[in-house]
Amino acid sequence: MQFIYALEAPVTGTTTTTQRTAIVTGAARGIGAATAIRLARDGHAVAVLDLEEAWCAETVSAITSAGGRAIAVGVDVSSPEQVEAAVERVAMELGAPTLLVNNAGIIRDNLIFKMPVEDWDAVMNVHLRGAFLMTKAVQAHMTVEKYGRIVNLSSTSAQGNRGQVNYSAAKAGIQGFTKTLAIELGRFGVTANAVAPGFIATDMTRQTAKRMNISFEDFLAGAAEQIPVGRVGQPEDIANTISFLTSEEAGYVSGQVIYVAGGPQD
Ligand code: NAP
Repeated sequence: MQFIYALEAPVTGTTTTTQRTAIVTGAARGIGAATAIRLARDGHAVAVLDLEEAWCAETVSAITSAGGRAIAVGVDVSSPEQVEAAVERVAMELGAPTLLVNNAGIIRDNLIFKMPVEDWDAVMNVHLRGAFLMTKAVQAHMTVEKYGRIVNLSSTSAQGNRGQVNYSAAKAGIQGFTKTLAIELGRFGVTANAVAPGFIATDMTRQTAKRMNISFEDFLAGAAEQIPVGRVGQPEDIANTISFLTSEEAGYVSGQVIYVAGGPQD
């Protein structure tokens, strides 16, 4: 039997997007803000979460001024009580969340011999505990709705990066977390994938340049020289990939780590 389904498919058909409720954490700026705006453009209502509600105003207004639906929610993703309250509020105001992007993140870089235990814990708490708490709260809605798309932010640093023993461990942990979510939640119509960005121009990489005592412009130029496509990434490069992974069409992609780094990763 020949597999010719693609040829038999109508070429003029359009895909329809069901409007869903998306939650994006750490969405006041950077990759999270670009992702929230992109998901709104994809037709979804978006809850813009960050540490302080007021910081989310710019992202929310970018969405609502373009005719989309969005709310700002202040939450520390590492606090179980705050996460429960935030997800409940989103469900009440926008409807059951079925798209979740665990994007909130921090860096506390240092060589291991100088790294305070507080900086190890802080990074683990935001990236791993945060993704766990958010996913635990949101999957309760996804499993009832029999539909869900979870995207977790990993990093090329998961493969090891000098000065980031805490961050690289957390980002590698995110990959195992994601694969296990895919296994546990697949039967409920829920997919889970990780996006692992390379160098993206945001406040986070600006912070790294500052720590290394070089100008952000020089840091960007130096990084671009090492990247096969010859440029650094922009937040929208990541948002575009998340847009696909949160779409209905991506329903057979699960448990994957997609490197978005302008070139291959080992
Ligand atoms: P960013 O510009 O620093 O934005 C991260 C956002 O998360 C900030 O608004 C931050 O608030 C917020 N946040 C921090 N802790 C939080 C908490 N406990 N609860 C809620 N929100 C919190 O970072 P980005 O560059 O866009 O990075 C976004 C994600 O991509 C992160 O997970 C990062 O690790 C990952 N990533 C980034 C790159 C890159 O090159 N930029 C590469 C690989 C992976 P504050 O302003 O208070 O910190």
